This record gives sequence, C-alpha cells and structure tokens, in this order.
Amino acid sequence: MKCLLCKGETEKSMVTYTVDRKGYHLFVKEIPAYVCSQCGEKYFEEKEVNAIQDMIKALEEKLQSISVAA
Ligand SMILES: [Zn+2]
Repeated sequence: MKCLLCKGETEKSMVTYTVDRKGYHLFVKEIPAYVCSQCGEKYFEEKEVNAIQDMIKALEEKLQSISVAA
C-alpha cells in the first residue's frame, strides 16, 4: 500500500503503539503495522486496531473502578 500522506512506499514492520490519555500512558510494544519509508506514518490493520481498542476499553473500566481516571 501507499502512504496516504506523502504517497511513499510502506513496509510491514513491528512498531510501538502509544496512547497518552488522562490518567495513563499506554505503550504496546511489537504491534505489526505498515510504516511509510518516507514520513514514518504508521498504518494498522483492523485486527490490531480492534485489539488495541479492546485493551483501552478494559483499561479505562479498571481505572474508573479505582478512581484514577476521572
Ligand atoms: Zn508517508
């Protein structure tokens, strides 16, 4: 696939996915993604995006239960 930002070539590699929200900072290491060789933009496939969103949902529910994330 081509990069949507700069039309550069993307290649599959393992990246670190980070989420910075109020109450937590999540680093998920070694997520497969397509990375643009020109600008470094990362593109995740649906399977990975869904898994990460499930993780964030579970994390936020747990955080709410201990009143860290208001
Ligand atoms: Zn690019």
